Amino acid sequence: MNPILACLALLSPSPRLAPDAYVDWAWQDAQPAIAAAQPVDAGQQRDIESDKSLGKKYSEEIDKELKASEDKAMIERVQRIGGELALIANETLTPVIWGDKRLNRFEYTFKVVNEKDVNAFSLPGGTIYVYEGLVKYIESDSELAGVLAHEIAHAALRHVAALQREQSKISAVQIPLIIAAVLTGKGGEALMATQLTTQAISSGWSVKAEQAADLSGFTYMVRSKYNPVGMLTMMERLAKDERAAPVVDWGIYRTHPPGRQRADALTEYLRTANIPLRRSEVTTSFRTSVSAADNGRVTVSFGNRAIVSFAGEEALKRADEAALRLNTFFDEDPELFQVGIGEDGTVVGLRRPLFQLTPGDAEAAKVPFDELKRTTVGGIRTVLYGLSYRVWNRR
Ligand SMILES: [Zn+2]
Repeated sequence: MNPILACLALLSPSPRLAPDAYVDWAWQDAQPAIAAAQPVDAGQQRDIESDKSLGKKYSEEIDKELKASEDKAMIERVQRIGGELALIANETLTPVIWGDKRLNRFEYTFKVVNEKDVNAFSLPGGTIYVYEGLVKYIESDSELAGVLAHEIAHAALRHVAALQREQSKISAVQIPLIIAAVLTGKGGEALMATQLTTQAISSGWSVKAEQAADLSGFTYMVRSKYNPVGMLTMMERLAKDERAAPVVDWGIYRTHPPGRQRADALTEYLRTANIPLRRSEVTTSFRTSVSAADNGRVTVSFGNRAIVSFAGEEALKRADEAALRLNTFFDEDPELFQVGIGEDGTVVGLRRPLFQLTPGDAEAAKVPFDELKRTTVGGIRTVLYGLSYRVWNRR
């Protein structure tokens, strides 16, 4: 028996979740097996070769449509992180909820294309395309790693082959059209491809493929030096940020946005794997920053929003300390009422002191001390309110 299935058979569903929710058991295989040095049999070798030649054919077409990036630093970054994850993928047997359960090893290739879309996709055989727009959109190496791990998983689990098997309505001839036309948004076949894609999506394969790539990708991330929280923050921002016009994976996000269900599943994997959900470690929009002005005042901001400005000789030291404590505070995604301020100007969040305002700070801001106290707490509550609809792990 397949070791993963054997493992699953022993598990009982989590009481918090519906019995059929895939998150019940998915991460229970928390320690993915290092694949035994099992020889690849002739059948698997044939499948791998078939993916490679199919992928080569697709990529030749796609390379005519998409302009290669000339940004050396960006290409280096994508290839370095992608290469690290590819090594892990090639030696990690993951729990597979949809696709080929065998350990399929590929020589992964990472290409960056000069396009503005927030987009990435992978071809059979392990050629992965990342758009410049996506690399500009991500806020840390961990977020980029999360996208690449997800894309690697699509190839490793041989999702195009699985699609061909499950959807006989979509012939092998049509699939390249779906991939090439929809994801590039170009080509005369776009209309037909869109119809085919809609058909494929409504039949549910895309959801299964996405969930499977999330889980296997997450497994690679856990074994890497990158923080798997990046997979969740990326998904949250894509879903909320309309400006990004997210188009990820075979054009799927255009009609099938990153779902709440996927985010919930990722949150559950993180919890089960005992990985703290610290968004501040993998983003800039959910993290504090400190900036000093010429007049000696030092401001702590969260994302783009200024929270507090300190004045006086200790301003920088106080700001650095406040920034650290605020990160921890915001990472816990507190409620509005969980922040307050004392008479002496001590701002308290989740019953811990975050920082202290002084009359000197008020003087530098040219406002009465009481007003500074009120507006500072008000500002923090505004941030908390914003977080309440920008993050998805509300209790
Ligand atoms: Zn995907």
